[in-house]
Amino acid sequence: TPDIHIIGGGLAGSEAAWQLARRGLRVRLSEMRGTGERSPAHQGDGLAELVCSNSFRSDDDEKNAVGLLHHEMRGCNSLIMAAAAVAQVPAGSALAVDRDVFSAEVEARLSALPNLQIVRERIDTLPAAGLTVVATGPLTAEALAHSIGAATGSDSLAFFDAIAPIVYHDSIDMDVCWMASRWDKGETKDYINCPMNRDQYLAFHTGLIEGEKTAFKEWEANTPYFDGCMPIEVMAERGVDTLRFGPMKPVGLDDPRTGRWPHAVVQLRQDNKLGTLWNMVGFQTKLKHAEQVRLFRTIPGLENAEFARLGGLHRNTFLNSPVLLDRQLRLKTAPHVRFAGQITGCEGYVESAAVGLLAGLMTAAEATGREWQAPPRTSALGALLAHITGDAEADSYQPMNVNFGLFPPLHDVKKKQRKEAYTDRAKTDIAPWLAAVRA
Ligand code: FAD
Repeated sequence: TPDIHIIGGGLAGSEAAWQLARRGLRVRLSEMRGTGERSPAHQGDGLAELVCSNSFRSDDDEKNAVGLLHHEMRGCNSLIMAAAAVAQVPAGSALAVDRDVFSAEVEARLSALPNLQIVRERIDTLPAAGLTVVATGPLTAEALAHSIGAATGSDSLAFFDAIAPIVYHDSIDMDVCWMASRWDKGETKDYINCPMNRDQYLAFHTGLIEGEKTAFKEWEANTPYFDGCMPIEVMAERGVDTLRFGPMKPVGLDDPRTGRWPHAVVQLRQDNKLGTLWNMVGFQTKLKHAEQVRLFRTIPGLENAEFARLGGLHRNTFLNSPVLLDRQLRLKTAPHVRFAGQITGCEGYVESAAVGLLAGLMTAAEATGREWQAPPRTSALGALLAHITGDAEADSYQPMNVNFGLFPPLHDVKKKQRKEAYTDRAKTDIAPWLAAVRA
């Protein structure tokens, strides 16, 4: 029998399994994909599948909270960060990956660990005993979700996320579009930019508002959107220029044919290593598929676009962790069960993997009878963990990306220097902790 049972082989479960098995513990990792079953968002059977964007966001560890989290996870020998390095594709200062190479790398590294058993099976009830890590994600299969609901005595909360379309590169008209990064001086040309003049933009805006959307089910009507993943048409409804200050922002993008910034821009970012697939940045949508094809082909340069995947809408399930979990991510009413990943109410690939990493380290300490030391509250790992396990307002708990708002404030530092001050302090404070936990 294994020492530890991990349920869910996504970002969090894979990272937790890695941390545990590398410490010599015997682990069973149960993943339902591969049995013919998949969530509505997953497309394959590989471990750690990225279901939407291919980006781990900013890799800047001096001014950016998620970049800092990358730094700290690398310091813990993170599987997800190591696989991302192998699968990296160009994306300016962001860390983006080829999703297939990434998933294959995660699976290969895990498969090479002798004391880790990867089992393709769906788990329908919370185990009654034995150290368990539940990392089944925002689209946890229904039976298990009910079992969790019963154990927590509460209905899981839900909200909406939307995903963006992906376009085949060879269907993009590069005589109309051009390669550039915002404010580039000719060195980095990582994005494909589709220019729009005022009339084209206004017509497009109207199209978004009037386009036919996927219907909401009755019970979903009051579910809020997560702000960072808002559908493009919902943003359009906020005002005619909202998109021009958001995903369609033209500033710093000189159109080589005019030498000027267009009225608005649609950007595409490389989605796979080969460079054959490009995703429409910020274009998550709940427009009906036929409507997406029709409307997105009015974008200059995308008149003949072929879509590898269209946008869509999904539900997200997470626990009211500040109330239900203890400081070590354990269910207060059943402490042999630990939660990890997005189901704890963090948001994002990196954050999910980070909480998986922490759950792995906590479980390893518990299994080997060592005392658990939490990462410092001033670090990205510490700030995220503290938010989830009690510092957040339980009444209004909503999934959250890591951000400097979660860190103990540095009021004395001038605003301009504050981001660097947060990352400097974090790196100094977490260094001894990293040295102690790294394996
Ligand atoms: P997952 O990666 O979903 O892993 C959970 C795993 O558990 C899956 O492999 C699943 O098959 C398995 N599983 C579920 N139930 C069972 C069961 N009963 N038994 C066995 N196995 C089970 N984040 C971003 O940073 N960028 C994005 O662009 C982005 N887009 C998203 C789009 C969608 C549609 C969704 C749903 C989420 C998105 N997220 C995004 C949020 C989040 O980062 C991802 O969902 C991330 O994959 C969460 O990691 P996880 O490990 O918690 O869950």
